[in-house]
Amino acid sequence: MSNDTARPTGYCYCGCGREIGYGRYFAAGHDKTAEAAFLAIHHDASVAQMLHAHGYGPDDDKSVTKAAVGKGIWQDCPRGCGYRGARESINNHVNRYHREK
Ligand SMILES: [Zn+2]
Ligand SMILES: [Zn+2]
Repeated sequence: MSNDTARPTGYCYCGCGREIGYGRYFAAGHDKTAEAAFLAIHHDASVAQMLHAHGYGPDDDKSVTKAAVGKGIWQDCPRGCGYRGARESINNHVNRYHREK
């Protein structure tokens, strides 16, 4: 792991000052609060603006989910339906949408 990786300190990363115990980053739900504040400050509270600012967009060659697959972090649905996600998400997706009848 590189030195610039965020490390848990025992206090909530949203900055509320709550002590949460070692090994966690956030008090329950505070990750969403922090994410919303970050988006509001930097990207007009818009995920689309955030993606655009990082070079992603609706075109296939700018697809953020395709990029995640390309980096080997996410996977394509093995049934070829176009769904992409983390390995656990793919497993849930296949069980839910491609289960043999
Ligand atoms: Zn917090
Ligand atoms: Zn699928």
